[in-house]
Amino acid sequence: MVTLPTAGANLVGLSREELEQLAVACGQARYRGRQLFRGIYARREQVFSNFTDLNGEFRTLLARECRIGYPEVQREFVSRDGAVRYVLRLEDGKTIEAVHMPERGRSTLCLSSQVGCALDCKFCFTALLGLARNLTAGEIAGQVLALLQAQRIPRRARLNVVFMGMGEPLLNLAAAMHAVRIMADADGLAIPLQRITLSTAGIVPRIYDLANEPMRPKLAVSLNASTEEQRTALMPLNRKYPLCELLQACRAYPLRPRERLTFEHVLLKGINDSDADAERVGALLHGIRAKVNLIPYNSGQELSYGPPPLARVLAFQGALTRQGVPAFIRISRGQDVRAACGQLSLAGS
Ligand code: SF4
Repeated sequence: MVTLPTAGANLVGLSREELEQLAVACGQARYRGRQLFRGIYARREQVFSNFTDLNGEFRTLLARECRIGYPEVQREFVSRDGAVRYVLRLEDGKTIEAVHMPERGRSTLCLSSQVGCALDCKFCFTALLGLARNLTAGEIAGQVLALLQAQRIPRRARLNVVFMGMGEPLLNLAAAMHAVRIMADADGLAIPLQRITLSTAGIVPRIYDLANEPMRPKLAVSLNASTEEQRTALMPLNRKYPLCELLQACRAYPLRPRERLTFEHVLLKGINDSDADAERVGALLHGIRAKVNLIPYNSGQELSYGPPPLARVLAFQGALTRQGVPAFIRISRGQDVRAACGQLSLAGS
């Protein structure tokens, strides 16, 4: 049973069905909830007086009892390459980061799923923050609305969404999936599921859960190693969910026609970037419809790892390609403003 939101409740994060139930609970027809949903997510209204398709009585009630609030942009850092790192303030005063990356004809939004992260991957700057808490579905969907507003991105623009910011989305799967369903709803932001990617460090049971979702976004797996020992040293999570179990879950993961499971491999100079590593990665992925994104490490002062030279990156790519595994070199955007992969750590905020 739906209860009326308490005074000041934020409607961002409620799905179309939840807003329909809210409308009914307010004594309105069900379709009013759908109109409310369209206003919040498709037209991106924030003031109830702009919902001119709703009747005056409902608007007055909503204006008195509810709000439409986005995470607040506290600071923004603009990269030379056009990427923008946003520091966003949540209602409890905690801060997270999200990144906008413009590309030809489309925008990619990189979202956070948690405040900080508990997983302690050794090459990641977010790990240095530890975990404060999970984000709500409203705080996740709200990042999209906040960035679209900050960038003045028009309706019907082509968007990609990647959960590759702070946190492990599969450790906050219910909220992440609630936000995904809101983003994908054709009455709202209408972002196709094939353009939404959850990236995981390898939470094996949740990969099986995600496989059973009726509305499934794409999945990317952060691999970063070619042996159990190497992965445990870089990603302590591997003790709990070893590579062999992770790859078993990946083999069982259902893919759409022509879809490939993405594996991310952050290349760390002298650690996981040898030809032998590439041979082993190719062998590990045998039998999986996979592609590999190779990400030369984005350095920072706090951690001592470095990126391999380009020749080594190309050799690694070549070794994978020869084994029939498509591999792409991803030069991270926004490195100069600490917006790149693994760099989000609230620097300068
Ligand atoms: S790489 Fe991802 S999962 Fe690992 S510590 Fe960083 S944010 Fe967490």
